[in-house]
Amino acid sequence: MRVLIIEDSPEIIDAVSLCINLRWPEAEVFSSAEGGRGLELIEEKGPDLVILDIGLPDMTGLEVLRTLRGFSDVPVVMLTARSQDIEIARYLEEGADEYVVKPFSHVEFMGRIQAIFRRAHGRMRTVSKPLQAGSLLMDFGAAEVYESGRPVGLTRTELSLLEHLVRNATRVVTYESLASNMMQIAEPADADSRLIKVHVQHLRSKLGDSAENPKYIANVYGIGYKFLQQVTAGVAGLMQGQQGQSALV
Ligand code: CA
Repeated sequence: MRVLIIEDSPEIIDAVSLCINLRWPEAEVFSSAEGGRGLELIEEKGPDLVILDIGLPDMTGLEVLRTLRGFSDVPVVMLTARSQDIEIARYLEEGADEYVVKPFSHVEFMGRIQAIFRRAHGRMRTVSKPLQAGSLLMDFGAAEVYESGRPVGLTRTELSLLEHLVRNATRVVTYESLASNMMQIAEPADADSRLIKVHVQHLRSKLGDSAENPKYIANVYGIGYKFLQQVTAGVAGLMQGQQGQSALV
């Protein structure tokens, strides 16, 4: 499956690419920061799905949508800056298939566009591929986490925090970024930096990690956290070897 992202924010391109690749590791994702180049890429590459930002430097998303509908039936998901019913209705009228309001969490994004992705490529596997970091195995699609082969029970908030850190592995993730990610799934009252610290403390203890001698989640004092390990596609054999059965396949 080939996915084209037309979006001028590198952060959003990264976030969307990661969402797609977590779920469909084989997907080929390419992007353009400009509408004009994006239209060329649709002709050149024939993507199975287009993710289109409404505000681009050279054209509006609406202009891009109208132009591409002149020559392509590719499914289009709009990325809108905020919920504006009138604009969204207009885009759907002009041939967009779905929309996602920024900022969004991985869970929200996937929930919103899963059906479109399936339609875009029926042959793609719809089960998520586990990810591995050290002895930690994570399947965010299935909401399952294993440490050294043992299942780790996490709350939805802890799972979301872990996922956000893992998605940004080896990079500093600020309290603000974690808070805004949490706002998507939790009560606003939960998205406070003191509460984030409490949730991270619980998460660490469940993963057998510690702030003093971090294996996975390190404090970046006054700023936030960093997931220390490189993340790779998970090995189902790890589970089979350690438990005699795979809980993930
Ligand atoms: Ca934009």
